[in-house]
Amino acid sequence: MSKISVLDENLINKIAAGEVVERPASVVKELIENSLDARATRITIDIRDSGKKSIKVIDDGEGMDEDDARNCVIRHATSKINSEDDLFSIQTLGFRGEALASVAAVSQLSIVTKKEEKLEGFNLVIEGGILINSGVIAAERGTTIEVRNLFFNTPARKKFLKTDSVEMRHIIDIVTNYSLANKNVSFKLIHEGRELLNSPAVENQRNNLASIYGANVTKELLLLNYKDEAIEISGYISKPYQSRNDKNQQVFFVNGRWIKSNDLSKAVYEGYRSLLFVNKHPIFVLNLKVDPKKIDVNVHPQKYEIKIEQNDQVKRVLTKAVNDTLKENNLIPVLDVEFEQQGDFNNQNNLKFIKSRAKYDFERSTQTVLETKEKVSEINNIQKTFVNVNEKVSPIKQEAGEIISETIKFPNIRFLGQVHKTFFVAETLDGVFFIDQHAAHERVMYEKFMRQLLDEKVSIQGLLKSEVIELSLQDMSVLEEEREDLNKFGFNFEIFGEKTILLKTIPVIFNRLQPKEMFHSLLNDLIEGNNSLMSLKETIITRIACRAAVMAGDELTNMEIKNIIGELQKCEHPYTCAHGRPTMFKTTVNELEKKFRRC
Ligand code: ADP
Ligand code: MG
Repeated sequence: MSKISVLDENLINKIAAGEVVERPASVVKELIENSLDARATRITIDIRDSGKKSIKVIDDGEGMDEDDARNCVIRHATSKINSEDDLFSIQTLGFRGEALASVAAVSQLSIVTKKEEKLEGFNLVIEGGILINSGVIAAERGTTIEVRNLFFNTPARKKFLKTDSVEMRHIIDIVTNYSLANKNVSFKLIHEGRELLNSPAVENQRNNLASIYGANVTKELLLLNYKDEAIEISGYISKPYQSRNDKNQQVFFVNGRWIKSNDLSKAVYEGYRSLLFVNKHPIFVLNLKVDPKKIDVNVHPQKYEIKIEQNDQVKRVLTKAVNDTLKENNLIPVLDVEFEQQGDFNNQNNLKFIKSRAKYDFERSTQTVLETKEKVSEINNIQKTFVNVNEKVSPIKQEAGEIISETIKFPNIRFLGQVHKTFFVAETLDGVFFIDQHAAHERVMYEKFMRQLLDEKVSIQGLLKSEVIELSLQDMSVLEEEREDLNKFGFNFEIFGEKTILLKTIPVIFNRLQPKEMFHSLLNDLIEGNNSLMSLKETIITRIACRAAVMAGDELTNMEIKNIIGELQKCEHPYTCAHGRPTMFKTTVNELEKKFRRC
């Protein structure tokens, strides 16, 4: 007797449901996608018991007529594709025609739907894939789908659900991310009658973000825009100091589809390169637009993954767009001086007086002598009289009071002094700047070296007396492999014996370090990193720059300080050290006034 039988339709749907419907959030995702594909402008998601009891999605989309409503729960029934050609240029979120069939197989599903031009709507009830009830019903334009008692007939699956809060978090993720991708659509998420999210339709994506991530985070995000023939990228990324301990606020949309991609993620991190502190994660919401023919969305039943034809190019462009955005913007963190309001210090008259008198007056607010005598109204003139350290290095006349002029990323600052042999203090037009001498110097050396390396022009310094360095056999083999690149890094050496070399030159930038130690630690990093010198260059140079930089507690002359600040101004990313720690922060006069209860 033959043993193979073709499974019945209902069982097939139940099996398929295993792939499509993992948890309540998967249902939410499929229903929202359908509403968006139906061009809804309002979508309400009403959840009970973290989706276990009921998930109801109400939209004002185009609706279905009776035939479509009956067909939509049949497997592989879809209005979105027709032919093989369509499959390779998908414009909609759905296309497989299996979501509703799968959901219907493992729940009690009801649909109420009405098309604009019809007088009445149509209603359908299905339990475990079996039609229970159907008929004409009064309804508004659009579609309401309710999924009750998910997995009621697949207890094994139900057992695998996580705690309520975990399941609810997945749902919130889905709704927030779809809402981020669709600023023109208003989303409302309700759980047990409580409104968790209300994101109205808006023109501007930043407003949309604000309703989801909050206004404080959002106002600091940087706008990113990039366009070429192949790809368009738009969205927001965080300044490095805004980064978080988790990756929860990172989203990619490709042609409006929320996708997860390690590749694209890596490309973004690469764009931040040395700006992020270890284990810190940027916030980003990025929309990529590519020709639908160039991507394959049919990789996974849940459609989270896609394949992009020119993946490497897209990654490169993404890295560049992120890096350029960071370079173009002022990334200086502003200190939040928390202010507990006590008593009534809020005298309006007083406030006016302070503001009109001396708020931005450099001359009045420093204790040192400086020739500029301009007042608030003449700020522009003040700026003209600033000495630009990048153009001419003039000796410092005064102990403090040197003004270092403005660049795009750096405001006008007047150097005031060094505190605790650790921080530089400088004044700006509207506040005070603190610069960490170690972090700043590390950043300066890191960028200088990287620039020289890129141009293959690392300045070297010959050692008066070559250093004899003894190495292990493992070191020696790495050394020979990497010899050419080590030369490019500024390390020239002669092999002196089986396990000995003579180090003849080092990169001049790092000449504060002991050559031998520097070389040993470099080799160490190289061997531990298990990769080529060139691919480990960021890590290795960060380490060396950190060691070579002035330390907290080092006494510096004014000239040295001025040089560091001047060089820092020239950096592409002056705001963090190579490890991603901040080099500086600013506190404004406003905040100081609050602290002193002057306003
Ligand atoms: P797919 O989205 O892949 O086509 P689904 O099973 O999710 O498959 O949906 C089947 C069909 O039902 C869709 O192609 C669409 O025509 C119709 N449909 C589902 N949900 C809605 C909705 N909210 N509004 C209008 N039509 C819908
Ligand atoms: Mg669908």
